[in-house]
Amino acid sequence: MAKPAYLTTEVESFRTAFRRFLQAEVVPHLETWEAAERTPREFWLAMGRHGYLCPWLDPAFGGSGAEFGYSVIICEELGRTGFMGLQTGVSVHSDITVPYLVQLAGEEEKRRWLPGCATGETVTAIGMTEPEVGSDLAQLRATAVREGDEWVINGQKTFISNGIESDLIVLAVRTDAGADQAHRGVSLIVVESDTPGYVKSRQLKKLGQHIQDTAELFFEDCRVPVGNLLGAEGQGFRYLMANLQRERLMISVAAQAAAEQVLEKALSYARERRAFGKSVGSFQHNAFKLVERATEVELGRTFLDSVIDEYVAGEDIGRKVSMAKWWLSDMANRVAYDAVQIHGGYGYMAEYPVARDYVDVRAMPIYAGSNEIMKRILARTLGLGDDEA
Ligand SMILES: Cc1cc2nc3c(=O)[nH]c(=O)nc-3n(C[C@H](O)[C@H](O)[C@H](O)COP(=O)(O)OP(=O)(O)OC[C@H]3O[C@@H](n4cnc5c(N)ncnc54)[C@H](O)[C@@H]3O)c2cc1C
Repeated sequence: MAKPAYLTTEVESFRTAFRRFLQAEVVPHLETWEAAERTPREFWLAMGRHGYLCPWLDPAFGGSGAEFGYSVIICEELGRTGFMGLQTGVSVHSDITVPYLVQLAGEEEKRRWLPGCATGETVTAIGMTEPEVGSDLAQLRATAVREGDEWVINGQKTFISNGIESDLIVLAVRTDAGADQAHRGVSLIVVESDTPGYVKSRQLKKLGQHIQDTAELFFEDCRVPVGNLLGAEGQGFRYLMANLQRERLMISVAAQAAAEQVLEKALSYARERRAFGKSVGSFQHNAFKLVERATEVELGRTFLDSVIDEYVAGEDIGRKVSMAKWWLSDMANRVAYDAVQIHGGYGYMAEYPVARDYVDVRAMPIYAGSNEIMKRILARTLGLGDDEA
């Protein structure tokens, strides 16, 4: 089969260089960082030093102006370390949050914020979800009220990736409580971590992805300059929906990479582990399970590569990326489930990498728009929309 267009020779050589970097500067520390439940700043700075954060960013702001393929490789290879939270943290920064700053911040703010995003001195997060509002984002309750040259923010956000480590957060807030439709009252505002009234309340204990922090945040009469508003007032929901395509694409990339590396582990264990005088993979039930998963992994790769190529070509991938996000993240979970089973008791032991894979991939069907929300979007494209929202 022809190679996808985004995988150029340069992008493939970049993969080799990036793997070498990971082996030398990241892999030796992964167990320590996982146990500490935090990716330390030294990781971000090392990534930044080598140009691996926001590689697509304009060189004027410290990036390399690299094609999208480079971001795909970074996401895949971080996931292939077997510590998937690492990929989540970097994607939230490089591929999800910083694009809002580039597209929507004023020139002065860009000059202030962006160079640090490339070096790792400024780590970013995005705050949409609240304790009472997740999928139905238009109903968010955090408010920002304009007073003179400032926005005064009040409210709470939860489940925020990089929430503790970040220096800057793009916050979705309600700026017009009286808007005729709830989503029209939403705006995006940047809050820097040292702003009085911004309280990083606590790091949440998660099922998996321990290596990266997820936090609960409070905003109590938190004042930021009016220049911290991103784009136009009341357009925040529209900006979020437009950018979620890229976010869902990156989760699809992460899910596929996870499925591939977990399948490899399952296959190699199935060939080596012996029971009743044979390898456990030679029992037909196990072999068929692994054949089914291998088929899905292959199908996933083909579909994903075609969606990436369409994205790079500037096509609207809204429908296909919703399909990719739900199907690939569910598929990665099926692979992880079977991988644990094929490992028997060892698969349930935390010291075995498949045990971590199993809990790490579990978040993928939930975040970036849950898989049910993906199906809701797709149902509408099939003329099966409900009457809600
Ligand atoms: C590890 C992790 C990291 C995260 N990082 C971030 C982050 O950085 N920033 C951020 O803002 N958020 C983040 N989130 C939050 C995540 O985006 C939300 O959890 C997700 O959108 C679901 O919202 P909810 O948890 O409120 O679930 P709810 O909206 O309460 O939904 C509960 C269940 O009902 C289903 N459901 C809801 N509505 C429908 C419907 N109409 N039809 C069918 N089923 C429906 C959902 O799919 C889900 O299964 C993160 C979450 C996790 C787990």
